[in-house]
Amino acid sequence: MPKLTPRRVGAAETHDTFEHVWTATGLASAFALAIQRDQGDLPGWRQAYNQILVSATNGKERIQRVLAGLSYSNAAKKLPKKIIERVYPGNTMTGSASQFETFRACPFRYFARYVLQLEPREEFVLSALDMGSLYHAVLSHVVHALIEEGVDLVDLDEAEAAKRVDEAVDEIAPRLKSEILLSDGRSEYIRSDTARILRDLMAVMLSQAAATDFKPAACELGFGGEQDPLPAVQIDVDKTYRVKIKGRIDRVDLAPEAKAQLARVIDYKSTSRRVPLYELVQGLHLQLPTYLIALQAHGRKALGAPLKPVGGFLQPIRAGSAQEMSLTRADGVPPLREQAEQYRARGFFGEEFIGRLDHSVGPKERSRHIALYINKDGEVSVQGDHVRAGHIDRLLELAERHIKDIAQHVLQGDTQIAPYRIGTTTPCSYCDYRGVCRFDATHNHYRSIQTQSRQEMLEMLSSDTGTVWETSVARNK
Ligand code: SF4
Repeated sequence: MPKLTPRRVGAAETHDTFEHVWTATGLASAFALAIQRDQGDLPGWRQAYNQILVSATNGKERIQRVLAGLSYSNAAKKLPKKIIERVYPGNTMTGSASQFETFRACPFRYFARYVLQLEPREEFVLSALDMGSLYHAVLSHVVHALIEEGVDLVDLDEAEAAKRVDEAVDEIAPRLKSEILLSDGRSEYIRSDTARILRDLMAVMLSQAAATDFKPAACELGFGGEQDPLPAVQIDVDKTYRVKIKGRIDRVDLAPEAKAQLARVIDYKSTSRRVPLYELVQGLHLQLPTYLIALQAHGRKALGAPLKPVGGFLQPIRAGSAQEMSLTRADGVPPLREQAEQYRARGFFGEEFIGRLDHSVGPKERSRHIALYINKDGEVSVQGDHVRAGHIDRLLELAERHIKDIAQHVLQGDTQIAPYRIGTTTPCSYCDYRGVCRFDATHNHYRSIQTQSRQEMLEMLSSDTGTVWETSVARNK
C-alpha cells in the first residue's frame, strides 16, 4: 500500500489532503504540513487531530512530536554577557588570525572550537597535522641554521642543502608525538619520505633564491606569546574592549631599500593553495595580512630596521601528487631546478615590488616562483597574484577592520550556525563540528557571499567606499 509522505502532497491537492491518507504516520505528516502551510482551516484538520489522538498507537506522543517539530528551529542562542566576560577576562580578547578566520567562516564553529574548546579525540597515529608540524620544524631548523651561520641560499649547493635536511630529519623526527616515528617499518618509510620531500623543496628554494632580492631573515618568528620576541598586535574594538593577536610567522624574507627593509612573509603549507583576492577582501583569509601588520608594527624590534610589507605567500612544501611523480626520480636525485614552478608560491604582492620579488621574469614570460605573468608589452597580466601600487596598505587596513568587526560580533555573543557559501564552496565540508551544530538547510541558512571579478575588486580597493566586504550577518537573538 503506498505510504503518503508530506513531500507527495502537492499544493494543488491540499483541499483533499486528508482524504488520501492511509496510515497514522501519513496522517501525522499531513497534519503537520497543513499547520506549517497555515491551513488550520482546512476541512477535516480537527478530525485529523482527534483521529491521531484517539486511534493511532501512542497518538498523544505522536501529536506532541509533530507539534514540537513545528517549532524546532536549530538556532544557537546568543551567549549571555556574564559568560563572555568569563571567556574574555580583563576586557581583552586574545586570539590568533586563524581563530578570527574561523569566526568569519562560521560563528558556531568558532563557538565550538574556541569557547567550548571541543576537539576531535587524539589518536596515536600520524595525522596530516603531525606531518605538517614535522615539515615545519625541519625547515625552520635548516633555514635558521643558515641564517645564524650567515650562509646565503644562493651560495649553497644542492648536495649540501640535502645533507642539512637529512641531518635535521634524523634529529627532529624521533621527538615527534611520543616517538611514534621510531615504532615500526612504516614509520621508517615515513621518515625517509619526509627527508625526500624536504630535499626536493630545498632544491626549489635554492632556485627561488637566485631569482629574487629577498633573503630569509627570521624563522618561526613569534608575536604576542610570553616568550616571543615581538609583542601582540593590538586593535581597539571599542572604548572598553581590545583585541590582542598572537601568532608565529614561518619565515620572514627581507630585501634592502633606502629607508627601510622590504619584508615578505612566507607560510609553509603542505600542498599548494591560492589566496583568492575575495578571501582577503571578505576577511576569510586573515593570516598573511596579520603577519604583515605584526611586522610593520614591531618588526624593527626583532630585525633591526623599519619594515615595509610587500606581500605574503603560501609556499607549498610538496607539489601536487601528479606533478610530484614527475619530480621524484628513481635514483633519488633532487628535482631539476627547471621544475620549480610546481612549487609556485601563491598569495598576494604589490605590483610596485615585482622587480625585487622576481628579477628573472621578462616580457612574454611567466615567473616560475610566484603567480606573475608579463605580456609582450611588458604589462602585468591581471591573472597573477599582484595587487596595485598602494593596495598592500589597503589590504592590511581591511584586515584590521575585519578583525574589529569579528571581535564585536564575538563580544555580543554571536554563535549563529551561519556558514558562508561562495558558489558551491562552504566550510562545512571539512568541519569537525557537523555532529554538534546539526546544520540542516531547512532550518539554517548559508551566508551567501557574492564574489566580483578580480578586476572589479581591484577597482574597489582603489576607491575607498568602505563597503568592500559583506558584513550583513544578522545577529542571533
Ligand atoms: S558544519 Fe558548517 S554550520 Fe556546522 S559548525 Fe561546521 S561550518 Fe558551521
